[in-house]
Amino acid sequence: QLRVRFAPSPTGPFHIGGARSALFNWLLAKKYGGKLILRIEDTDLERSTKESEENIKEALRWLGITWDEGIDVGGPYGPYRQTERLDIYRHYTEKLLESGQAFHCYCSEEELEAERQEQMDKGETPRYMGRCRNLSPEDKQRLAAEGRKPTVRFKVPENKQIVFKDLVRDTVSFDSNGIGDFVIVKSDGIPVYNYAVVLDDALMRISHVIRAEEHLSNTPRQILLYEALGLAVPQFGHISLILGKDRTKMSKRHGATSVDQYRNQGYLSEAIVNFLALLGWAPAGEQEIFSREELINEFSMDRVAKNPAVFDIDKLNWLNAHYMKQASPELVTELALPHLKAAGYVQDDISGEKKDWLIKVMAEIKDYLSYAAQAVDHVDVFFNDHITFESEEAREVMRDADIPRVMEAFKVRLLALDPLESAGVQAILKSITKELKLGGKKVYMPVRIAITGKMHGPELINLIPLLGKERTLARMERMLA
Ligand code: GLU
Repeated sequence: QLRVRFAPSPTGPFHIGGARSALFNWLLAKKYGGKLILRIEDTDLERSTKESEENIKEALRWLGITWDEGIDVGGPYGPYRQTERLDIYRHYTEKLLESGQAFHCYCSEEELEAERQEQMDKGETPRYMGRCRNLSPEDKQRLAAEGRKPTVRFKVPENKQIVFKDLVRDTVSFDSNGIGDFVIVKSDGIPVYNYAVVLDDALMRISHVIRAEEHLSNTPRQILLYEALGLAVPQFGHISLILGKDRTKMSKRHGATSVDQYRNQGYLSEAIVNFLALLGWAPAGEQEIFSREELINEFSMDRVAKNPAVFDIDKLNWLNAHYMKQASPELVTELALPHLKAAGYVQDDISGEKKDWLIKVMAEIKDYLSYAAQAVDHVDVFFNDHITFESEEAREVMRDADIPRVMEAFKVRLLALDPLESAGVQAILKSITKELKLGGKKVYMPVRIAITGKMHGPELINLIPLLGKERTLARMERMLA
């Protein structure tokens, strides 16, 4: 059975890259009837926070990425939070120490730094040279008596080629001589990532480790540990980096990098999921819009690209605009509300008729939005009665000799219209063109400008019922004065 995992470190905002790793693993689990395990890698005690963990889980739920085992839901191989597994790691550390595959290292930070410096001065790649590899019991006693607290280092075998077949990168090989004996347990007894991850992946029976490319150089270390511990090595697949449009690694400089930022701007999770899937995975055909179900069917590791993925915000906006068109006005309203409140358009406690009206307004504008926060730039015409001509061109239209007749005809008919609905407004505009023998443009455009000051905007026949007779006529009067 396929068993994959997502193993975030809860040390800050949940990034787009992490969400993509989670998604790829989820797609594989769904596609092959496997299991997705969510494990929290919180061995960096200083940087890990409960808040970040909650945030990651919440974001995953929002994206629709559900896990079958792991944190909160449990499972047969728990606990699923690394700080709750310290006894397990300790047990294996003892074994490695007993068999001589690991050793205590008493070197101080200063000594290690001096060694690094010396190597760098010689133009070598710094690595631990094995000073504590063969300490006698007396040496150890003496060093411990100096108050030194040892770390545990893994004894890296010499002259070994570490070769593995990566699901994305094909055959990858490393030379063990480039890897110095590395720390697996810090002096405070906390294991480091490279060690805990191996024990967890093995003990949780993970079959495929699909993760970001930045971990590729960790993989040879991890494989050496699997071998030393006599554990089965899973399959690895390292998915490419995400770059900004300028082809440098995606960072804050390129705009929003966390899932939350997009969520808060009113992006839809369907769009984010669709977009993330295309970050590194190439579908077989031309199709670009994929529902979650379609992604599950289509996704496969052999169409995951080796070369970096480029984060294209225009593409995301295009996808989101697509999903916004399909979304209900109610949903888009919910997403836009915080922004409309912040901009002062609506009250904190909006409800009832006012809310219903707002939903109708959103129905008018949502097809023009890339994401819900942009509603702020489109609603003014519905809220603000103090309109002015947007341009000289608009003002010019209103100087036409026919204008007074058009306006008068419109006013009379609007006052008589009951009920005030789009179809009725449509009909009166039409009847004016007939009666005054004017082209449609000579009627619609002046009425639009008289009500909005603008030559373009939301559908006129829907706008007028939303404003009501009183506001519509008051606006016209002011514009014509
Ligand atoms: N905790 C690691 C990270 O967030 C997980 C790496 C892995 O998937 O092995 O980068």
